[in-house]
Amino acid sequence: MKNQINRQWRLAARPKGMVKESDFSFHEVPVPTIEEGQVLVRNLYLSFDPAQRGWMDDRPSYVPPVGLGEVMRAGSVGQVIESKLPDFAVGDLVQGTFGWQDYAAVKPGGPLVLGKLPQGMPPTLFLGVCGLTGLTAYFGLLDVGRPIPGETVVISGAAGATGSVVGQLAKIKGCRAIGIAGGKDKCRWLTEVAGFEAAIDYKTESVEERLKELCPNGINIFFDNVGGEILEAAIGLLANKGRVVLCGGISAYNQEQAPPGPKNYLNLVIRRGRMEGFIVIDYIERFHEGEQSMLGWVLQGRIKHQEDIQEGLENAPKTMLRLFGGKNQGKQLLKIAEPPIPLPE
Ligand code: NAP
Repeated sequence: MKNQINRQWRLAARPKGMVKESDFSFHEVPVPTIEEGQVLVRNLYLSFDPAQRGWMDDRPSYVPPVGLGEVMRAGSVGQVIESKLPDFAVGDLVQGTFGWQDYAAVKPGGPLVLGKLPQGMPPTLFLGVCGLTGLTAYFGLLDVGRPIPGETVVISGAAGATGSVVGQLAKIKGCRAIGIAGGKDKCRWLTEVAGFEAAIDYKTESVEERLKELCPNGINIFFDNVGGEILEAAIGLLANKGRVVLCGGISAYNQEQAPPGPKNYLNLVIRRGRMEGFIVIDYIERFHEGEQSMLGWVLQGRIKHQEDIQEGLENAPKTMLRLFGGKNQGKQLLKIAEPPIPLPE
């Protein structure tokens, strides 16, 4: 790899409010050389996740923040192009946190986790519906929400990568799924393709009024990706023994001041409800179970998914802005290269 360039995007500034392209800086450095126990990975696809916004802030979280001047952290899939690690061969597809760059020198474990992908499957599946996103839906709904057949499950951020899977899992478990999403096209996809019973366009409709109509017996599970007013409306309509699964709160990620908490939280007392957060990486011991289940449902056509694939590493900051502007139709990915070594048929 002598004389080859490794393009990188690094974190240049801690964002104030909405993330901006100028919060990142572009660099060209030599491709790293690997030591014993490492592989050299050519990044192929980058995953864009709302959590990345939190990693850019210097405040306590479940992982350390990205340091200023460090390569922007991101989940990705890549191909091994050089190996000094017995279990990894040149040509293997791998996933890990290789960041916004063309090449990474990595080893198993540590911050740049490395895992092999199964052969013969599109690698993007393992960043989306069969990767951490799908696993978030799987463990969040099944373990934290614990759906019971016949229950009503309401999902915010419902047309997104995580939310769309949650609703379809709810259906597989014999529940009614009602989604809340931004815009007519996203709502249409939810009811016409993903099989949700109804979808509420929060940009043009009153979420509270529509939830009252659609959930006359209350909400049994509210799976929240958004927070704010939508969370408050759902708490107000909880059924007895209702559960609020706190997966995320994207409406606040780019705000300088944390919004006030829901003022009607005492409805949890009246309804004997439960509100619980979770982080998917806590289920690492059960990832294999989740991946196999998700893969099975995807291959059977019982879970539909969309991938929104942008192109070119130079567009990494713009692609992050798409996610926070709600422009993504499904899992937000960025393709940065074709596999340099042809994949087996
Ligand atoms: P996604 O839903 O595919 O994309 C983000 C979506 O959020 C956008 O398409 C947009 O949809 C919506 N959005 C953006 N800004 C918003 C705002 N200000 N107010 C309301 N909605 C807004 O992304 P994802 O990766 O699947 O993540 C969804 C949620 O899951 C996030 O909250 C994320 O942090 C959380 N998450 C949690 C875990 C965990 O371990 N707890 C793991 C992964 C993800 P609309 O067009 O519908 O507004």
